[in-house]
Parts: sequence; structure tokens; C-alpha cells
Amino acid sequence: MIIKTISTILSNEPVGENIYRIELLSPEISTASKPGQFINIKVSENLDPLLRRPFSVYNVIDDRIQIIFNVVGKATKILSSKKVGEKIDIIGPLGNGFNLNDDFDTALIVAGGLGIAPFPFLTKILKEKNKNIISLVGARTKSQLVLDGFVNVNTATDDGSYGHKGTVVELFKLKVMNNDIVKTPSAFKVFACGPIPMLKAIIELCDKLNLNCEVSVEAPMACGTGLCQGCAVKTRDGKYKLACKDGPIFNSKDILL
Ligand SMILES: Cc1cc2nc3c(=O)[nH]c(=O)nc-3n(C[C@H](O)[C@H](O)[C@H](O)COP(=O)(O)OP(=O)(O)OC[C@H]3O[C@@H](n4cnc5c(N)ncnc54)[C@H](O)[C@@H]3O)c2cc1C
Repeated sequence: MIIKTISTILSNEPVGENIYRIELLSPEISTASKPGQFINIKVSENLDPLLRRPFSVYNVIDDRIQIIFNVVGKATKILSSKKVGEKIDIIGPLGNGFNLNDDFDTALIVAGGLGIAPFPFLTKILKEKNKNIISLVGARTKSQLVLDGFVNVNTATDDGSYGHKGTVVELFKLKVMNNDIVKTPSAFKVFACGPIPMLKAIIELCDKLNLNCEVSVEAPMACGTGLCQGCAVKTRDGKYKLACKDGPIFNSKDILL
């Protein structure tokens, strides 16, 4: 069920360079949310900006929902200035969420930049299911690495300021291809989120290694509910799916980025 509600902001704080985390009181949406889903936020009461903005559910703690965001434009700038106690109009949970019914015992989480967003919630649920978890987290630089909510973390930064010097894709190659962490490929599942070039590279590697992989495709979207058809993602059979409704989570074998 999709819920539209006016939620109270419980906290809004910087957690990295240009990165904020907001906690919202929403008993209905927090109960209904699954990892990988997102909420659509109307950041202003007037018509500017007109469109809602989508943000992954970063975590759910009791009756509270958290999101994390990078300030990149008008809506995220407004969001970063919101004060505790202010009300905000949200719709959710939207999208499909990760499929956790596959028969895997080890999850490899791969996050690039703000691609960290869906994973603290996923990690929490995977821990409840007693799965083994390995996390690879990459960012441009140390001040943009937000590691709260991750477990068993290996890091990469483009400038080498923390962890492996290079991209999270290189870290994936080091850990997965040059290492023996994949003991039984069929019991292993990759969950990835980040910029499209990173997802493309991870999908190629998973194809090569025949690994089960799901990716969160955060394609820019307008309505968030399938009406505007603005967030089409090409599938391997030449058709299109909508990131907002059929996704944002896709099995890597289904899509062509
Ligand atoms: C399903 C989904 C989940 C998302 N989850 C998160 C999240 O958890 N945290 C977060 O920080 N962001 C997330 N995003 C992206 C977020 O919605 C945008 O950053 C936000 O809408 C920007 O609004 P703005 O008005 O501040 O910037 P705008 O003025 O709309 O855009 C500023 C710049 O960012 C680019 N941009 C906008 N949206 C995207 C996008 N989806 N992908 C790549 N570039 C984009 C624009 O092209 C432009 O260059 C998600 C997007 C989707 C579709």
C-alpha cells in the first residue's frame, strides 16, 4: 500500500561533505517499507520546485524513517535547511525493493558515492536473516564516506585518502576476482547501487562470474508512480521497464544500462 502523509522532521544533520541525513516520524511508512524502496518528498509547500523528489529508504528505526542525501540542486538545498519539528509531505513506500527470497547465504554489498543509501536498511534485515555480509563502499574522498550501518566494510576512495586508492569497481575486482571470497557462486548474491557507469561495470563482472546480482537504478524520475513513464530502463529483451514502478531494483540479468 502506498501512503501519503505529512511527517514531522525529527533530525536533520550533516553526516559527510555535502551529505545530510534526515529522520522522519512516519509509523505507517516505516512499517510498510522494505529495503530498496524509496519515498517521494515534496520539499516545499509552494509550486517551486513543483515535482516531488525520490530518496531511498536509508534506514527504518521503529516508527521512524531515515533518508540520506547529497545536496545537488534546488530541492536538496531546501531539504538540507529544514529544521527539527517542521512538517514535510511524503509518499511511500514506492518501488519494488530487493528480492531477499533467493537462496543465498552471503551478500556482497557494493556502494558507490550516495549509492550507500539503500544499504543500512538492507544490512539490518540481512542480519536478522543471519546472512553473511561483506560490504564494499567507495567515495571520491574520505569526507564523503558514510559508513554507519554497514558491516564488514572494505573502503575505496578515488584519491586514496581512506582505504584502497581507486574505485569501488577496482575494489570489487581485488576482493572477488583475485580473492576467494566467493566460495560457492550459487550461494552468493551481489547488491549494488551507485552511478550508472559503476553499475554497468559491476553487472559486466557479475555476468562474467555468473553471480546473482541486483542493482538499484536511480534514474531521474518525475512522478514516481509510473504515470509519466519518464524513467524507462532498457531490458535485455529490447523492451523497457520503469525504474519507479518495476524497479528501482532490477536483477542484473534483466536490464541493459
Ligand atoms: C529511486 C531513486 C532513489 C534515490 N535515492 C537517493 C538518495 O537516497 N539520496 C540522494 O542523495 N539521491 C537519491 N536519488 C537522487 C535524487 O532524487 C536527486 O538527487 C534529487 O531529485 C535532486 O533534486 P534537486 O532539485 O536537488 O536537484 P536537480 O536540480 O533536480 O538536479 C541537480 C543535478 O542532479 C542531477 N540529478 C537529479 N536526479 C538525478 C538522479 N536520479 N541521478 C543522477 N543525477 C541526477 C540533475 O541532472 C542535475 O545535474 C534517488 C533517485 C531515485 C530515482
